[in-house]
Amino acid sequence: MGAFAIAIHGGAGTILQSLMTAEQEKAYLKALQEAVDTGYDILKAGGSAVDAVTAATVSLENCELFNAGRGSVFTANGQHEMDASIMDGKSLEAGAVTGISQVKNPVLLAKEIMINSPHLLFFGEGAMSFARERGLEFETEEYFYSEYRYQQLKAAQQSDEVVLDHSSIENGAKKFGTVGAVACDQYGNVAAATSTGGMTNKPPGRVGDSPIIGAGTYANNQTCAISCTGHGELFIRSVAAFHVHAQMLYQNRSLATAMEDVVLNKLLPIGGEGGMIGVDAQANVSLQFNSEGMYRGMKHSDGRQTCEVYKTSEV
Ligand code: ASP
Repeated sequence: MGAFAIAIHGGAGTILQSLMTAEQEKAYLKALQEAVDTGYDILKAGGSAVDAVTAATVSLENCELFNAGRGSVFTANGQHEMDASIMDGKSLEAGAVTGISQVKNPVLLAKEIMINSPHLLFFGEGAMSFARERGLEFETEEYFYSEYRYQQLKAAQQSDEVVLDHSSIENGAKKFGTVGAVACDQYGNVAAATSTGGMTNKPPGRVGDSPIIGAGTYANNQTCAISCTGHGELFIRSVAAFHVHAQMLYQNRSLATAMEDVVLNKLLPIGGEGGMIGVDAQANVSLQFNSEGMYRGMKHSDGRQTCEVYKTSEV
């Protein structure tokens, strides 16, 4: 049995301690810990990296604190358009969805596509009929409605902004709320998953990096698994997740060095605020961001574990 590890994120951005109550902070840390433990327990029991990242992401999608699944933000016309993707580093198979609504767990639909379809990326109505065919759970509009998110939309509309974070308008803080997970299982297989509601007040049809393999999500047993969060357009232009893999493969860089280069030297100069989580096939973990904070957590079979929000120690 080899070393194994899981890492998760719940979004990056200008997450300032001064703007968070102790109660809010506690709620976020509890939700992060739950997701980490859910994924870790699967790995510990000998489960696959794919199953671990799926379960951790479902846990975050079901928590209304994060901008994915239940807590997804509103589009400009008051709808939800969710995106998700997953990739298996062993088989290099992947599945992704974009522009879907009412599917309770978009990451489960991405996984269904990966496993049961010869295609990779589905959008809108077609994606939802595939979800119905596969018997996935749907929820009512009320399940996805939150007064808080709705007020974010109104605030964004008043200032005529498309925002990666509602709170940028309310209190000067900016947060990218996407969720994601990466894992390396006991057999050295890696996987990555990412899920998001996108940007508050985004025009209908806008797609970010989260469902794009190579941009927001990538996994390959030769190197690593990566899940990103941040300003999606810039992550797509930087081919961010694949860029980490490529540096490791072609330049023999370590996971941490490659991630640092992409986050600081590729994304930052073009205004790509955000971060990413990564794990390599030896279960080394790295959590990096160029923003004020990133909701993040990790747990390793050697006993190390952490759940953090602000800029503090690096793992
Ligand atoms: N990357 C996501 C997007 O652009 C947003 C986020 O990470 O919160 O849709």
